[in-house]
Amino acid sequence: MATEETNQLSLDDKLFTVRRKTLNQSHITLDERLCSECLNRICTYVCPAEVYVWDEAAKKIDVRYENCLECGACRVACEAIEWANPAWGTGIAYKNS
Ligand code: SF4
Ligand code: SF4
Repeated sequence: MATEETNQLSLDDKLFTVRRKTLNQSHITLDERLCSECLNRICTYVCPAEVYVWDEAAKKIDVRYENCLECGACRVACEAIEWANPAWGTGIAYKNS
């Protein structure tokens, strides 16, 4: 059961157990036509790694793909999201595995 203490962990705390090797190219792309008409922005809720962040100034979703945990939740949640496996040798690995 989650405790109040675990709910207050920062994103960096949550991501401490994984290491990531990323390329300069995102493995996630969005159909921004759908994003511009989106009312609920569910991507900003379902992602445990806060990859999708609404940029109010730019009026678009900022995709912080470097944080992706490859859980797949966003692919199920929204059809505007094109998600491909990170290139071979990149992506996440658990530090303790
Ligand atoms: S990615 Fe999907 S949920 Fe997120 S803003 Fe775009 S259309 Fe909405
Ligand atoms: S696969 Fe999981 S961690 Fe990666 S962007 Fe989608 S919801 Fe976030």
